[in-house]
Amino acid sequence: MMRARFERYHIEVKDAPPKFRIPPRFFVKRYNNCSNVQECTQACVYGVHVVGKDGKIAEPINDLCRGCYVCVLKCPDLALSVEENIESQHMGNEYFTGDRIRTIYFEAETGRVPVSGTGYDGPFAGRGFDGIWFDFSEIVRPTRDGIHGREFISTSVDFGRRPSRLVFDEEGKLLSSDPRIIEIPIPMILEAPLTLGEEGHLRLAAVKAASKLRTFAIVDLKNCNGDLLPYISNIIPRIYPGEITEAEDVIHLSRIVEVDLKDRDYETQDIIDRIRRVNPSVLISFSLPFDDASHKRAYALTEKGADIIHLYMSDQNVERDPDSITSALQRTHSYLVEKNVREKVTLVSSGGIAEAAHVPKSIILGADAVGLGLAYQIALGCKVCYSAHHSGDCQLRIESQDVEWAVQRIANLVGSWRDQLLEILGGMGLREVRRQRGEMGRAMFYNDLEAKIFGGRE
Ligand SMILES: [Zn+2]
Repeated sequence: MMRARFERYHIEVKDAPPKFRIPPRFFVKRYNNCSNVQECTQACVYGVHVVGKDGKIAEPINDLCRGCYVCVLKCPDLALSVEENIESQHMGNEYFTGDRIRTIYFEAETGRVPVSGTGYDGPFAGRGFDGIWFDFSEIVRPTRDGIHGREFISTSVDFGRRPSRLVFDEEGKLLSSDPRIIEIPIPMILEAPLTLGEEGHLRLAAVKAASKLRTFAIVDLKNCNGDLLPYISNIIPRIYPGEITEAEDVIHLSRIVEVDLKDRDYETQDIIDRIRRVNPSVLISFSLPFDDASHKRAYALTEKGADIIHLYMSDQNVERDPDSITSALQRTHSYLVEKNVREKVTLVSSGGIAEAAHVPKSIILGADAVGLGLAYQIALGCKVCYSAHHSGDCQLRIESQDVEWAVQRIANLVGSWRDQLLEILGGMGLREVRRQRGEMGRAMFYNDLEAKIFGGRE
């Protein structure tokens, strides 16, 4: 029987060039001795060399060059050179590297899958997400054609608690509460953007993008008003425990609310009861930082009735220790499985999501969905701000006439990332992203392999 969830989901992508070009990584030079043989147009798979309208070879497109030097080698005239651009080496940081920023720019501009996307060509060793790669070696029947749609692969995920079984009392009355489930077509939500003072266009763009993508954007309670209210069904208001009373109107209108506990413990049962009194059908998410105790806190909150646990780590901390987020996520998922409550709660993981492959890698480690934060703000021109609120030399400025442009850049980025997710699911022979969750047997971990190969040696 076909279920409603198998309806087609489509992200409309459209060219959205950046407002500021980022420095190219390479400069490709063509010298005067070029005799227009055009061998380079065949040699370059990245499209650096194209023929102009006049039938002559055009100026090289530096932005597309990946520095493979094939054009230099193939040119019969020896008329090409490729040089590294020193300026571009200073872009980004150790985690949001120049290459990652360039890839995000390409994806946000075109909505397409980059030629060397999906993380296949990344370092074959590394920490955190870079120490995990997909195991496509045991495929019996790969569902290869996910993107082009001949074989349908679902990227939908469910938010909320599903009852593990129905429980009846002695008189046959159903005791277990009704499942409250919200299905979203992609395992990605948008984190609240760093704010630009009182400038709300960036928030509006995030919220409109969430609405277009049929997912959610997180917005602080104090900003859930004005221009944003028409999009309330795609907003997750973020509320602090002391704000429940003033949040009542917003809670009443919302499908999901998030209570940010930070690293403190509050009387969460009371918070849940108060929210439920205002809106019995709203999903309640608790957000807390990834740390040594997050697995136990997540379990306790699940037992109290949380529908969603949203774990987060700042990008700055992920950069400092890339293993911290991957191990905490894996530990939290495993602990909930061990305690037999994993199906009762949705896990959302935020932090360190810097490329498309980080979405399926988070899911393999046990998340149901991820929060995109800095990545979509980089797509709009942010220079990797961390907590600096796009001040200083950050060029991210969204004026009212830029909102639609920003929405399209975010939609393109998410569209490209979804296509790359489909490629990976196809490669793993999975027809649903739901089945990828916690499938650690389908991935290889650098730490494990290192132990196997170098085991016993100090
Ligand atoms: Zn910024």
